Amino acid sequence: MHACDLCHLLVGAPTTVEPHENLAASGAGALGMDINSRWVDRPWRCTVCGAWMFQNAAHGEPPNVWRMGRRPQDRPQERT
Ligand SMILES: [Zn+2]
Repeated sequence: MHACDLCHLLVGAPTTVEPHENLAASGAGALGMDINSRWVDRPWRCTVCGAWMFQNAAHGEPPNVWRMGRRPQDRPQERT
């Protein structure tokens, strides 16, 4: 998967940085699973490259930074 430039720039940035314009907020329901909110603050999905971006909470790894992640489960149909 090739993330777009905006996503690349956001990885490793402090979570005080606002999500870029192509990120859409996704709740736990969108992932189809429960998210441990102590570790992952908010999941976002890029509408351009499809990357999942996670805004780590204070207890995240690493804490308080943006990271790029995969969905925990691959599901063939994710778009509605
Ligand atoms: Zn992107």
